[in-house]
Amino acid sequence: MGEEEKFDAIIIGAGPAGTACAYILAREGKSVLVIERGISAGSKNLTGGRLYTYALELVEPGLHAEAPLERKVVREQIMMLGANGALTIDYLDYDFKQEVPQSYSILRAPFDEWFAAKAEEQGAMVAPGILVEDLIIRDNKVVGVKAGEDEMYADVVIAADGINSFMAQKAGLRSDLTGHMVGVGVKEVIELPPDVIQNRFNLATDEGTARMIIGCTEGIQGGGFLYTNKDSVSLGIVFSPEAAAKQGKSIHEIHQNFKMHPAIYPLIGDGNTVEYGAHLVPESGWRDVPPKLYRDGFLVTGDAAGFCINTGTILRGIDLAIVSGVAAARAVMKAADSTAVGPAYVKELEQLGLIPTMKMFAGWPDIVAIPRMAETYPRLANEVLRFMFTVDGHVPEKMPKAMRAIVKRHVSMSQLISDGWKGVTSV
Ligand SMILES: Cc1cc2nc3c(=O)[nH]c(=O)nc-3n(C[C@H](O)[C@H](O)[C@H](O)COP(=O)(O)OP(=O)(O)OC[C@H]3O[C@@H](n4cnc5c(N)ncnc54)[C@H](O)[C@@H]3O)c2cc1C
Repeated sequence: MGEEEKFDAIIIGAGPAGTACAYILAREGKSVLVIERGISAGSKNLTGGRLYTYALELVEPGLHAEAPLERKVVREQIMMLGANGALTIDYLDYDFKQEVPQSYSILRAPFDEWFAAKAEEQGAMVAPGILVEDLIIRDNKVVGVKAGEDEMYADVVIAADGINSFMAQKAGLRSDLTGHMVGVGVKEVIELPPDVIQNRFNLATDEGTARMIIGCTEGIQGGGFLYTNKDSVSLGIVFSPEAAAKQGKSIHEIHQNFKMHPAIYPLIGDGNTVEYGAHLVPESGWRDVPPKLYRDGFLVTGDAAGFCINTGTILRGIDLAIVSGVAAARAVMKAADSTAVGPAYVKELEQLGLIPTMKMFAGWPDIVAIPRMAETYPRLANEVLRFMFTVDGHVPEKMPKAMRAIVKRHVSMSQLISDGWKGVTSV
């Protein structure tokens, strides 16, 4: 392709960020090329997975009704594993099932493929099986991309290439990822008949559960998740690779032990594993979002920009990826010339609430990183409950004395105060 036959936009990556951007630009009449290294959109992608519906509605009202979504999440659960049991907080809210339900469980391969096909319907060109290797930069402006021998040109190049964004690095906007910036996610999809899922999780046919789990990573900073799909459950853990390396633990072994835990196995027993994979997830929130999200002719979106929030109870990356794709598309539509696109993008990110939300949660990685969150506190909580529910014919200790003894067995008073203070000051 010669420089004279350029696209209005080239988007690198057909994940939710890239496809949302492509969908809107194509709908608005722009010529858009989406380049995806996977053999199809979604083939390289892995997520927990839950999608917050508002983001899809931002792309096009009503779009969620056509999407291959799994179950409407009505049960939000937090599970703390003990050595031989579990404390589960189960929050049921039927308002989450309203006309546009708040969130759905999803499987990324069918979702991404469907979304890319929708962008194509709007007129975007999606080119799978092509790895973008470099940017073409002229007079300090990004003017195109290189893939093998091929050069392709555009007014604007949008990096939507995920967490390990070589394109943002090549543009000079990001440095190499370091261990503290990421978590490693390991996930298994386990097939089960729908009625078994409904019985085990106490759900109606279209309802789903999203369960965040702590105490499942053998003391390594991190946690687990379990989402119910129509005829499968997604079970996985996300943890710090730095902490795992320090403790010399095998990821596979931790995951296997997690599955065999007496409170987890009955949920997945007799299931058939149909998918197993691992992926990085941005963990450091706003602090590691690059100070500049653009340069002339170039924008960074989604995970490539570090747009992800993990509070331990909520993991949000897909919705933020879509919102940033929408912001990028709106900026391209509104800006008078290429130098105005970047500032317009940041303005859209502000107006759509993405930057303010990321800032709001800026301190949460400190809470997730408290070493005792991964094991000590879940075990402590279980022991408190065991005390409360144990009836064995002995005269029980007085409550305050028993509580003091339980706490003391797990954590020193100074650690408790310091963790509590960190918790209060980080949110
Ligand atoms: C285990 C795990 C659980 C998660 N759970 C959830 C959850 O429940 N809810 C949630 O909201 N978020 C979750 N996330 C986060 C979420 O998956 C990401 O934030 C989201 O996928 C980011 O979307 P994206 O479009 O920016 O990037 P991606 O989805 O990573 O897409 C990037 C695309 O770019 C392509 N690509 C990369 N480099 C190139 C190149 N050089 N040339 C061409 N193509 C390229 C890739 O193949 C890929 O298709 C989870 C993540 C993990 C790992």
